[in-house]
Amino acid sequence: MSSSNHKDHPALAADFNKDEPRVDWHDETLWWVRAKRDRAAAQVPDWEILRDTASRIKDNVLSNLSGYLRQFEEEATRNGIVVHWAADAKEHNDIVLSILRNHKVDKMVKSKSMLTEECHLNQHLHDNGIEVVDTDLGERVVQLAEEPPSHIVLPCIHWKKEEIGELFHKHLGTPKGNADPQLLTYAARLHLREKFLTRRVALTGVNFAVAETGEFVVCTNEGNADMGAHLADVHIASMGIEKLIPQRRHLGVFLRLLTRSATGQPITTYSSHFKRPRPGQEMHIVLVDNGRSVHLGRKDFRNSLKCIRCAACFNTCPVYRRSGGHSYHTAVAGPIGSILSPNLDMKKYADLPFASTLCGSCSNVCPVKIDIHEQLYKWRQVIVQAGNAPAAKTAAMKTMTWVLSNPGVYHSAGKAGRWFMLNVPFTVKNKLNAWYLQRELPEPPKESFGQWYKKNKRS
Ligand code: SF4
Repeated sequence: MSSSNHKDHPALAADFNKDEPRVDWHDETLWWVRAKRDRAAAQVPDWEILRDTASRIKDNVLSNLSGYLRQFEEEATRNGIVVHWAADAKEHNDIVLSILRNHKVDKMVKSKSMLTEECHLNQHLHDNGIEVVDTDLGERVVQLAEEPPSHIVLPCIHWKKEEIGELFHKHLGTPKGNADPQLLTYAARLHLREKFLTRRVALTGVNFAVAETGEFVVCTNEGNADMGAHLADVHIASMGIEKLIPQRRHLGVFLRLLTRSATGQPITTYSSHFKRPRPGQEMHIVLVDNGRSVHLGRKDFRNSLKCIRCAACFNTCPVYRRSGGHSYHTAVAGPIGSILSPNLDMKKYADLPFASTLCGSCSNVCPVKIDIHEQLYKWRQVIVQAGNAPAAKTAAMKTMTWVLSNPGVYHSAGKAGRWFMLNVPFTVKNKLNAWYLQRELPEPPKESFGQWYKKNKRS
């Protein structure tokens, strides 16, 4: 547990691990998605060139962010879009609420937007009497279950279809015990269609915003963003300021990478361009900072702002696959969330950079070539230096430093350790020692390498 009384990653992962069969299929399902991503990537001969190009385009964006933002604002305004600026989550939420209030609306549909999760928009609107219906199917499942998403692309990946059948029976009146995916999807479709047809305001996220044209692109597989935005009188788009790309021609690079990396599909089913409101419609875009410019100023971590939220790093991460998204206690989980979250609150998220084996698989699959595992390692150093590491870990590291920097103590500790492991193994392997709970005790050597070397060096 962390000092601030919320459960930290190890404690939440232990909760998830109580249900071993769930852990196994969660792991296997995400690995299956990762393997699909590998096959999709292998079919593009220029894959590595694409990754490199995307990374360089984003380098350019991050180095010239303020200029591109001003260009985007100018072009979007010229197109008839109302542009808002939000310094933080509160400002973002207040802007959305004021637009709804101006239109005397108390109901809204929303397609997937991790930014609104980061800002806790639903809660804010709920507290102010606004009903929000999430229209992405996975997001609607977790919303009905009153849970946050556990994955940025597959929000209810931790749910079994039988459990969704029960949830839909309770909320949507589907037959009890029926978990047929086609029937459940059809029920969700009817349920959501009624919401689309009766809501006057729709909020969407933004995958890419083009500085040169002032347009933005929203990618979905379900067409729910389009349904919401096309039927509503008011379209609000929430966008993190890092989502810019300079020119429309750059979209070809990112759209080819995004869904291949995310789900192994060649392209998202719907990649919708929004450039101006249709006649009679109002279109707003809220450009949100919420810590991003501080992150941009951290030279070791700024590259993580290149992220296009494909979740390939989640699917490949052995820790994520076996600890589940909720164990990260933050809106964007997984390896990239473990880099972005400590920027928002270093103390609260000090546990996350340690939730990694540092195997580097995340960096290998990242379509924009973020050095994810290097940044996780770097965050560990920053967190320890700032005194935010858990007390037990700090004490253990100090003890190790003392042991490893004193040869006499090191040799005595090794001798004592070997003796205990050989003669009274239960003192090391017991339920109080979490490290051994799921590991086999190695056979200890009878002597240390140093002792062996002294004896054998002449021969
Ligand atoms: S860090 Fe890279 S792999 Fe992870 S979600 Fe972002 S773009 Fe995808």
